[in-house]
Amino acid sequence: MDATHASGRLAVVNPQGDKLAILRKYEKYIREDGQAVLYQIKSCKGEEVGCPFLIKAPRPIARQMADTMEELSFSQRLYEKIPGRILPHQTFKMAVAGCPNSCSMPQIKDFGVIAREQVTVDPGAECTLCRKCLKACREETITLKPDRTVIVHYERCVDCGQCARVCPTGSIKVKARGHTVVMGGKVGRHPRFATELVRFVQEPQVVKALEMASEKILGEGGRYIYEVLVKESTLQEIRDAIGET
Ligand code: SF4
Ligand code: SF4
Ligand code: SF4
Repeated sequence: MDATHASGRLAVVNPQGDKLAILRKYEKYIREDGQAVLYQIKSCKGEEVGCPFLIKAPRPIARQMADTMEELSFSQRLYEKIPGRILPHQTFKMAVAGCPNSCSMPQIKDFGVIAREQVTVDPGAECTLCRKCLKACREETITLKPDRTVIVHYERCVDCGQCARVCPTGSIKVKARGHTVVMGGKVGRHPRFATELVRFVQEPQVVKALEMASEKILGEGGRYIYEVLVKESTLQEIRDAIGET
């Protein structure tokens, strides 16, 4: 054994037969104390740059996800499951985005979380036909009628919330904020966009989905992360367990 366990992590003590020989060439897989981390969570920079599109700050949910991985002893368990040298593509890649613009690229990660802001039309508010919502909506999802009726075509809406932010009358307003969870995205020889697991859930459900996805990966030997996450049976089992808000 070339590793000892400490706080659910790995401490590499013996380079002989070193399973981390390749990962050690990349700083992100080895902590300063020599412990290995076999997952990565990338967050968009929405908070740092004061992004005007930000719906939910990505770092708090990213921290919860990292805590979950530590509580599961994911790195330690994945290390033990993978025979031979561990390659970068065998680590678990996650991303969190603060809005549907998805700058952290959750669609090409194993597990992605995208903040969304659902909007609704308030028939009790008086639309002034100012057209600000039309300018804000890149998807051309809103119709304004001469009688001041406002229609949102939800089938084209990406839940970015921009129309509600510019509406001066509250005719379009925020209904709820939450997250979409996607799984099974990847690049490489056969790239694939992630499948939508659930459209709109809150943080506890994101964490539950991550726990279940992680256990599935570890249960399948940890070697084929992508294949495990795109199995319809995996997706359905997680959907059934977490439901939607
Ligand atoms: S994903 Fe959205 S909130 Fe995050 S940096 Fe990009 S545009 Fe801003
Ligand atoms: S939430 Fe975004 S996509 Fe949906 S109607 Fe408003 S501006 Fe358009
Ligand atoms: S921004 Fe609000 S008030 Fe202006 S046209 Fe759109 S719904 Fe009406």
